[in-house]
Amino acid sequence: MENGQDALSQGNHGLHVVHKLGAKSSVHAGAQLGKTECINNVVGYMIAHAPGPALFVQPTIEMAKRLSKQRLDSLIHETPVLSEKVAPARSRDSGNTMFSKSFDGGILLLTGANSATGLRSAPCRWVLLDEVDAFPADVDGEGDPCALAERRASTFSRRKIILTSTPTVKDMSRIETEYLASNQMRYFVPCPHCGQMQWLEWKNIRWRDSDPRTAAYACNSCGAHIPEHHKSEMLRRGEWRATATAEDPRTVGFHLSSLYSPLGWKSWEEIVTEFLRAKSDPPLLKTWTNTVLGETWEEETGAKMGAEGLRDRAEFYPADEVPAKASIVTCGVDVQDNRVAIGLYAWGEGEESWLLNHFEIFGDPASKKLWDQVDDVIFRTYKKEDGTQLKVSATGVDSGGHFTSEVYAYCRERAKRGVFALKGQSQRNKPAIGKPSKVDINYKGQVLKNSAQVFPAGVDTIKTTLFARLKLNEEGPGYIHFHAAASPEYFKQLTSERQVVRYVKGFAIREWKKKPGDRNEALDCFCYSYCALNYLYMRFNRSTIFEQFAKAQEPKDEPQEQKRVESPYQPTRRRVSRRPSSSFVTNW
Ligand SMILES: [Zn+2]
Repeated sequence: MENGQDALSQGNHGLHVVHKLGAKSSVHAGAQLGKTECINNVVGYMIAHAPGPALFVQPTIEMAKRLSKQRLDSLIHETPVLSEKVAPARSRDSGNTMFSKSFDGGILLLTGANSATGLRSAPCRWVLLDEVDAFPADVDGEGDPCALAERRASTFSRRKIILTSTPTVKDMSRIETEYLASNQMRYFVPCPHCGQMQWLEWKNIRWRDSDPRTAAYACNSCGAHIPEHHKSEMLRRGEWRATATAEDPRTVGFHLSSLYSPLGWKSWEEIVTEFLRAKSDPPLLKTWTNTVLGETWEEETGAKMGAEGLRDRAEFYPADEVPAKASIVTCGVDVQDNRVAIGLYAWGEGEESWLLNHFEIFGDPASKKLWDQVDDVIFRTYKKEDGTQLKVSATGVDSGGHFTSEVYAYCRERAKRGVFALKGQSQRNKPAIGKPSKVDINYKGQVLKNSAQVFPAGVDTIKTTLFARLKLNEEGPGYIHFHAAASPEYFKQLTSERQVVRYVKGFAIREWKKKPGDRNEALDCFCYSYCALNYLYMRFNRSTIFEQFAKAQEPKDEPQEQKRVESPYQPTRRRVSRRPSSSFVTNW
């Protein structure tokens, strides 16, 4: 089959990349440019010339299934050199199934980036990651699916890790990040007029009178217009050249836009036609930029809050000291593999808030020692400016990482002291805290009497609240205060995410995203701390809660009332029945 796609990927004019692959390679390209074909060719090359165990990851299991059925099977079937090596699917013990193809000297495993189980397969010399910008940021709470898959190859000195994708949103694109860390190869072609080697850029495409039929390429050097019929010859005489020096010389990156599509596939005329149609319609223009130019889209509506700006407005109050206007302290705990991050915030009327402290405690979350140190933080007393003392009223602990059962156990034992397990929910429009579910089940499948509870935390909602509040310029309701001792890293992490718009069938969907590889624990801790404040709303009258807590802290002649509020985690039912009060929420 000699269509444009095959011509591109099989390299009869030199665009092929198989022989230039490094230990880690990224292919950053427009859609329908034969990128998937290219990765299929890598599969073909691997089976025929460099066999070994290989893992091929698609964004989802469903897509892996489709790839296997619609592309790989026909690739193998139609290529004699491959079908000789791969056992036919019909024979029962061939080891050839939808998700696994055995061949002489190796095995090809297919999976989706949404399956942590699939990504934890045996060690693999080849790891192929296709459409990485469509991968989830986190898979089953086990972290970045790319990192999980890449780990499979770490024991092979002659490993090949290949990432491909059509890019998406600027600063949020995995493939762009990989490409920028590479030697940034571009395909240079000669100008038929002056011979100058150059890579094809959209800004050099010219047309007259809004007529796409006049599209031509203006040479970077002599300026002469190059009609499209020269393209085949230019591509044939072209070569890949690095335009940057990679930090790791084994990292190579390829970028191709649809301007390189071979004749008969996608013409410059079509590209100009599509541009003219899309130019005043942002969703269309984004798609065009991603798929035709193979470039990321800069989101103008993104709410990116500068870490610098926040640092500039930090105030001089001591860390760990509760300002006079605050009456409640909550804590958020983010659990990582070798540490916990802790965010302590004080809250006052109208949810005006103050950062008390943010820090990390290093240690093994499976060890008691680390949790003893967390106890020290959340059960100590915090001094107010006027000398009164208060304790942390609620603490939300993230149970979404690798230490779920440790977190459950820790929170179960401290439930009466306001410590609860939570799990972040990224869906939009969820409440800051939702209805808890019981999580301890015995071997018979029955819920244990003293079961731990886990509360869903609407982190998407909380982030929207946070970023809106960070924009406030005046102290008062909603305003967030920071103390000057907070580190630059704290501010960087707090503002590590931004809202990006994804278009699905023309509808804009806004979601919070962080740049792959960036840390965001300070942001998570704020979210959990705010979730903990909302946890108190389930137990106290929201409209008077700050007043109630403030009252309880004053040494006054209402000892009974004071006692009630100071220890809200005595069995609630008894308290409420003794003196039914509208100030206690009784629905839990
Ligand atoms: Zn020229």
